[in-house]
Amino acid sequence: MDLKNYVASVKDFPKKGIIFRDITTLMNDGEAYKYATEQIVQFAKDKQVDLVVGPEARGFIFGCPVSYALGIGFVPVRKPKKLPRETIEYSYDLEYGSNTLCMHKDAIKPGQRVLIVDDLLATGGTMEATIKMVEQLGGVVAGLAFLIELEDLKGREKLKDYPVLTLMKY
Ligand code: IMP
Repeated sequence: MDLKNYVASVKDFPKKGIIFRDITTLMNDGEAYKYATEQIVQFAKDKQVDLVVGPEARGFIFGCPVSYALGIGFVPVRKPKKLPRETIEYSYDLEYGSNTLCMHKDAIKPGQRVLIVDDLLATGGTMEATIKMVEQLGGVVAGLAFLIELEDLKGREKLKDYPVLTLMKY
């Protein structure tokens, strides 16, 4: 199945000059959504994964069905002030300004093997922040999976130490 047929490319969103890769059209198609999820499940199969971690919000959309299929738990990574209990956080620089992500402090036990899932790899900042938090809690990053990789932005260079799966490249 060629998943690219199910991605909508939207010019000048959210601002002029950007082509936004929209995966809601892929989710809208049951077969494509299932196929994409299954590719990630296959990638995880030999990695003895204990938990799936996904950054909000699109990391939930693909991370949750993967955790369900594997019969393991799911841990959300969220923006500040969304998680109700004690959290750890990690901030990283953006082109203009910065971004902070949070996780519950008790979400991962030391030694647990983690698969991190998100929809899209751009600069790699979101994934790098998520990796740092997983490792701070003593988790072992067993793999990283994305639907889409924007190759020009070279996010993969930040992720050299880990097995990376991307289902589509632009
Ligand atoms: P990064 O941190 O620069 O790698 O950006 C990745 C994050 O931004 C992911 O969580 C994506 O959901 C989001 N993102 C960036 N560009 C796009 C896009 O074209 N389509 C959908 N999501 C995007």
